[in-house]
Amino acid sequence: MSFEIVDRDLLARIGRFETKSGVVETPLLFPVINPGIQPIHPKTLEKEFGCRALITNAYIINKNFKETAVENGLHRFLDFSGSIMTDSGAYQLLIYKDIEVTPKEIVQFQEAINTDIATILDIPTGWGVSKEYARYTVKETIKRAKALEKMKSRDDLAWVGPVQGGQYLDLVARSAREMGKLPFQIHALGSPTPVMEQYKFDVLVDMIFAAKMNLPPERPLHLFGAGHPFMFALAVALGCDLFDSAAYALFARQDRYLTDSGTTRLASLQYFPCSCPACNKTDPETVRALPREERHKLLAEHNLHVSFYELRRIKQAVTEGRLWEHMEMRAHGHPSLLQALKKVAKYSEYLEKQGPVTKKGGIFFFSSLGLARPEVLRYRQRLLDRYSPPPHAKVLLLLPQTRKKPFHTSKEHETVMNQMRQTLGDKVDAVHVCTYSAPFGVVPTELDDVYPVSQNVIAYPFDHETVNYVAQQVANYIQKTGYDQIILLRDPTVWKRKIGAACRRACKTRKVPFISLHERDPWAESTIEHLAEVLKEAVTVP
Ligand SMILES: [Zn+2]
Repeated sequence: MSFEIVDRDLLARIGRFETKSGVVETPLLFPVINPGIQPIHPKTLEKEFGCRALITNAYIINKNFKETAVENGLHRFLDFSGSIMTDSGAYQLLIYKDIEVTPKEIVQFQEAINTDIATILDIPTGWGVSKEYARYTVKETIKRAKALEKMKSRDDLAWVGPVQGGQYLDLVARSAREMGKLPFQIHALGSPTPVMEQYKFDVLVDMIFAAKMNLPPERPLHLFGAGHPFMFALAVALGCDLFDSAAYALFARQDRYLTDSGTTRLASLQYFPCSCPACNKTDPETVRALPREERHKLLAEHNLHVSFYELRRIKQAVTEGRLWEHMEMRAHGHPSLLQALKKVAKYSEYLEKQGPVTKKGGIFFFSSLGLARPEVLRYRQRLLDRYSPPPHAKVLLLLPQTRKKPFHTSKEHETVMNQMRQTLGDKVDAVHVCTYSAPFGVVPTELDDVYPVSQNVIAYPFDHETVNYVAQQVANYIQKTGYDQIILLRDPTVWKRKIGAACRRACKTRKVPFISLHERDPWAESTIEHLAEVLKEAVTVP
């Protein structure tokens, strides 16, 4: 049992997890197999879907198929040779208030049926419970987790340590810290049913971070009950490595068809928006006419294909360092997901610290959502903490950004530089040229070809949040540095009056002179000549 991380992006990891039945790659989806009802047989999962892992329920097997399962072992019982994970049935106990099985029986039963990944009998917190009850579920689960060492007799199973606490984030954090101290190979976060059913993904973001920030990072994290492919990108980006999906079968039974942006009723489909093997051979009208069982089987097959397909896209995005773009695209598939992505901004410092520093390629900025990206935060922190302007620079000249990058190679900036050299002569070094630009803020000319300042594409016109962010960065930069004077070349069509107002406020605080040049066209010949004269005056002032 080992977890080897092969590639990373944000908090996502492509990893190899070894169980006694083989190596599986994360992020990994375990289709849920109910031993009683199987729309897709485990053997088919293995043969036709290339599925190397599944999850089933130890409680249901113990209750209905105990002897056969123990006698044959779980792999023969289900007819599946890959890695099998078993859930303890804690959820069923919660629903049916069954007290027939003890924690010890469930531990020993999972060993007896030779599962690969086993789960202790935890107490799910659920939703809408009092804090007192939530605290009890955390305490009792930790107690049972500590007792595991004495209950188990084998060392070749991977054990899952569930994290409880529900919507009480302080309890989730405490639960994660305590469980993390115990010798589990995997941790799991129980996502209460309403979080998934009512699309409370913003709550889920808080819960995942509360767990993630307090668990040992080297252990995989399983997100229970997150079977809909449209939220995989978000969960993977936040560091969830393993998922189980009952959704593929549950939705199929309700004649519902999963897509990467939501769920559609079979009744309302004119076309199948998919090219999976199940959809390719037929059309919605034909499927609607099929007998119930056949229809549900086909829908379950499609639902599973679309789930695996989304995970492969996510993994490819990780290898390209483009998971943020993919997550942002998915977030626009549903308002609840967009709301959740907005919540991620709250944790951008953690994302920046824990995520890898990649230089894999260009970055796309679609809107102010991108301001929460680690690259933006990293640039801001480094500029404020580590950067000082050249010592001979007395005057800060702020130029607007140009479409061409690096900015200093643009025709516009080159013209300004030539005019400055001509007018200022050897005093040109007293002027420090910086560009104000979205999304990074102030970019000193000597840094403008540093990754990712030039390696990004941003959509114009910028939204309010982006304009305000850049204005704030300009103000912060002026406050932090010691120039004698600030001169701004305005670009009113892009920035309205925001940058000028921010400069004026910062200069007033620092009590330094501020000049703003606001001609209609910042790059007109007359503007640049005027700018050079203003600069000349500025550098010759004693
Ligand atoms: Zn399909």
